[in-house]
Amino acid sequence: MVDRLTRWAPVKAVHVERAAFDTHALSAGKPLEGADYQRGTLHGYEVREYLLAKFDRVCVYCGAAGVPLNIDHVHPKSRGGTDRVSNLVLACIGCNRAKGDRPVAEFAPKRAAAVLKRAKAPLRDAAAVQSVRWALWRALEARLPVHVGSGGRTKYNRTRNHLPKTHTLDALCVGKVDTVTATVTGVLVAACTGRGTHARTRPDKHGFPRLLMPRTKRFFAFATGDLVTATVPSGKNTGTHTGRVAVRSNGKFNITTARGTVQGIHHRHLRLLQRSDGYGYTTRKEGAASSPA
Ligand SMILES: [Zn+2]
Repeated sequence: MVDRLTRWAPVKAVHVERAAFDTHALSAGKPLEGADYQRGTLHGYEVREYLLAKFDRVCVYCGAAGVPLNIDHVHPKSRGGTDRVSNLVLACIGCNRAKGDRPVAEFAPKRAAAVLKRAKAPLRDAAAVQSVRWALWRALEARLPVHVGSGGRTKYNRTRNHLPKTHTLDALCVGKVDTVTATVTGVLVAACTGRGTHARTRPDKHGFPRLLMPRTKRFFAFATGDLVTATVPSGKNTGTHTGRVAVRSNGKFNITTARGTVQGIHHRHLRLLQRSDGYGYTTRKEGAASSPA
């Protein structure tokens, strides 16, 4: 996709969100200070993303999922607990309040050992996730200058610039960003659509061949997935339809447009815009819900 875009647009560098959080910032640096995660500093966002991944976005005391989670000091600060990540867990608001400034052994005696063990354990899956991201980074690095950032930093930038959460605006906030002064209005959506199937038949519910698929994928010079525009002079489909075509051997094709599918359009009304390349392309306004191509 990067190769494709650089062919048409003057791309100078790629900014990639390489990891959910920056492990170096967590381990190498000083232990974070209380203000860090309360006042929304970059370090605070890294810690929060780290804890969300480590505790699977679940309250460590009661197991509640899908609820707002607070950062809880296992060993309370008032009793000498530190701000190191090994002393931090995620707790739902109820548990966080109920625990107050009591140590975990007092608040949840039965779970205390397990909670302490989890808090102390390093994040196991992080290494596996990182290896894939490193491979992507290396592939990009062979083409263009690459700058990497963490998900924590993305969220920090987005929140600081008061931007709503969308995929596009998140992409804009990846890496070292100071102020976002302009956003985008139009978005190109590229979705994997595949290149069809090699199957020669379709099975019925018992697995017996039900019908024979045609040997060729191309009919009247069109293949399913091609981007076409059709100008229909008369009949119930009168007008212009632009979109992805699905071919039929009888020459009456379906076109999926932004407004819906138009059926039974004769191939002679079609004009090819772009050959199918395994991706479906649509454009939409930023903020609008994405419609699959
Ligand atoms: Zn809870």
